[in-house]
Amino acid sequence: MGNVMSEQARSFSSKWVKLWACCIAVVAAVALSTMGLGAQAAYADQGAPVESLNVSALTVDEDVDGDELTPGYWMQSKGGWWFEYEDGTYAVGYQYIETNGEGEFYYFDQNGWMVTGWHWGSEFVELLYGGYIPEGVSSWLYFKDGGAMAFGWEKVGGTWYYLDPDMLVGWWDIDGAWYFMNGSGAMETGWLNQGGTWYYLAASGAMQTGWQWIGGSWYYLDPETGAMATGWAEIDGTWYYLNGSGSMETGWLNQGGIWYYLAASGAMQTGWQWIGNAWYYLNPVSGAMATGWFDVDGTWYYANGSGAMQASKWVGDYYLTGSGAMATNAWIGNYYVGADGKWIPNYDENAVTVYWVDNGTVYHTSQNCTTLKQSDNIKSGTIAESGKDRACSVCAR
Ligand SMILES: [Zn+2]
Repeated sequence: MGNVMSEQARSFSSKWVKLWACCIAVVAAVALSTMGLGAQAAYADQGAPVESLNVSALTVDEDVDGDELTPGYWMQSKGGWWFEYEDGTYAVGYQYIETNGEGEFYYFDQNGWMVTGWHWGSEFVELLYGGYIPEGVSSWLYFKDGGAMAFGWEKVGGTWYYLDPDMLVGWWDIDGAWYFMNGSGAMETGWLNQGGTWYYLAASGAMQTGWQWIGGSWYYLDPETGAMATGWAEIDGTWYYLNGSGSMETGWLNQGGIWYYLAASGAMQTGWQWIGNAWYYLNPVSGAMATGWFDVDGTWYYANGSGAMQASKWVGDYYLTGSGAMATNAWIGNYYVGADGKWIPNYDENAVTVYWVDNGTVYHTSQNCTTLKQSDNIKSGTIAESGKDRACSVCAR
């Protein structure tokens, strides 16, 4: 629909300019009873042409090929606006009206009155060359205060709608963001539950993804779908726990009778952690807190029922050193613990043969100890004869 302005239209325009003054008087004089009259009748009684240069209209229907725009005039009376052609007839239905080359769509009812606001009408189908044609009667359209059909975002009564120009309903990707318009076309904001899945829409209506701080909590929204995560979620290689309402947990967490610890960042912690006033050992893979006896790289430790690592104390027949490591091959006061850490009653160190080299710092309980067997001049005898007061920690195990 190009610029089809003609000489004819210009001459009509100037004619109406001349008529302008007298019609103003008519408008002032004429009374109210225009409601219910067709636009043409109203015009005959009291209408006024509004100066409108270079205006022409094309009736838009399902077959607009080859149609040209017809010059005319915007007319206004108390009853509203209509569009008058040069031959005195008026526009009805969907019109494409160009003013100085700028085109908009309008709708005129069967009496020719220009419609504003919501209108249950045709679905508009975009044509290959960029125009639109109406098809059937199946969608809501919105005509702005000036009568132009809305395209794109439109705020009506404090609510946003998207006109395509058909009013959109449901999920739509608009300029790279997802929006949700409810059944009445109103753009939703805030939390939205769809099919049991929660989504979060910013004040702008844009669906949010990834980590979001909302109402004092962190939430994780799937980077693609926007679906709110609940339960355990591995995000960029770190585990987090989102509770049933999606809010990220921190601190101690009991799940299925197992304790986990989540840092202030929400990241599940693993390995040794100093928490509160004690050491805790959290499984390097699962994060599960250890209780009772547990082995870390070949050394035994003991944690009480609440997971706090114990140190410098006896646990049954075993002794925990200051570091928490179970003692082996060592005297704890008058008690001796063997290679397996267990107290050996009536232990006689002189009855045990140990092995050493003179310049070594420890004695070995095994002649085949990997740290000893390569050495020359291996000696053997009692611990006292070795002159060493510490056992090798390698062969002690
Ligand atoms: Zn050794």
